[in-house]
Amino acid sequence: MNVLVTGGAGYIGSHACQRLVRDGHTVVALDSLDRGHREPMALLGADDPESLLTFVEGTVGDRQLVSRLLAEHAIDTVMHFAALAYVGESVDDPMRYYRTNVEAGVALVDACVDAPAVTRFIFSSSCATYGDPPEGMVPVPESCPQVPTSPYGRTKLMLEDVLRDTARACAQSSRDLRVAMLRYFNVAGSDRSGTLGEDHTPETHLIPVAIHAAMGKRDHMSIFGTDYPTADGTCVRDYVHVEDLIDAHVRVAERLESAPTEPLAYNVGIGLGYSVREVLDAVKRVSGVEFEVREAPRRTGDAVALYAEPAKIQAELGWHAQVTDLDEIVASAWRWMSAHPAGYAGA
Ligand code: UDP
Repeated sequence: MNVLVTGGAGYIGSHACQRLVRDGHTVVALDSLDRGHREPMALLGADDPESLLTFVEGTVGDRQLVSRLLAEHAIDTVMHFAALAYVGESVDDPMRYYRTNVEAGVALVDACVDAPAVTRFIFSSSCATYGDPPEGMVPVPESCPQVPTSPYGRTKLMLEDVLRDTARACAQSSRDLRVAMLRYFNVAGSDRSGTLGEDHTPETHLIPVAIHAAMGKRDHMSIFGTDYPTADGTCVRDYVHVEDLIDAHVRVAERLESAPTEPLAYNVGIGLGYSVREVLDAVKRVSGVEFEVREAPRRTGDAVALYAEPAKIQAELGWHAQVTDLDEIVASAWRWMSAHPAGYAGA
């Protein structure tokens, strides 16, 4: 495959580049470096002219640049990771989310439709598109109503709609463009060879924030909400290892070679829910550090309990999470983060 990986210098995108290059595919990573990092690109060989990986600094909303890259590199597959992905931030600054995730995403889809060699488009969607599932719908199947509770979730659902409409219009006009939407649950951990890690500024995701507390980079961590209707009062999430998530992308790309023209949608999660308190206990076990935990009010936009019903992706793509043990997921994140206290800047 010749793959355009948007957001290729980010946490998930860089893991995609690593796997695709390892599998012998040609990869163009496009990243604005707003939240991504140049270092993982260098670590994956992008500075070597012989490498299968090319890094380009730019935004997916730059229609001219994207069209040029699609043509020059004969791109046949687009994996679209570039996005802002913080629920809390999206509540505070929704316009930034609509511009980055929707407006730029639409420009990208438009450029792809006009590039005849592009036949596969794989979109990083989110379980946040489900919002708070109705009773009886957790674990969450793909058929769960999509009613997002945050601007972030709404931006992801909007681009899903754009892609569904685009795929149908393409099918009617015999333009061969096949679309898949992968609805990620909580992506966590890092590559087990130890090359790549998770380095966000700001960092707000539960596992890396707790690891920062264990590393002494912050003096405590807060649990956002302890009065939820769950077993221990804290929110429940499905933590899927980043390498398993990327494996789902590779499998869906293969499936799209022979897939019907109807867009495909899959949940990507391990099918198990862990509470915030269980995650914190795992970080304490793995790190061997007792850090201070404070109980804080609920965070606006958070759903109560979200974990996947992964039966569809298992049956249709043969995908099964290889890492389902919470301690193992946390350990892979801990290994890289504790070895790189300054993140990629100190790599
Ligand atoms: N969370 C928390 N304290 C933190 C960060 C997150 O209690 O410092 C909670 C958050 O409220 C949610 C869960 O951990 O219930 C997972 O949040 P995260 O931001 O990692 O992912 P999200 O589910 O929002 O995509």
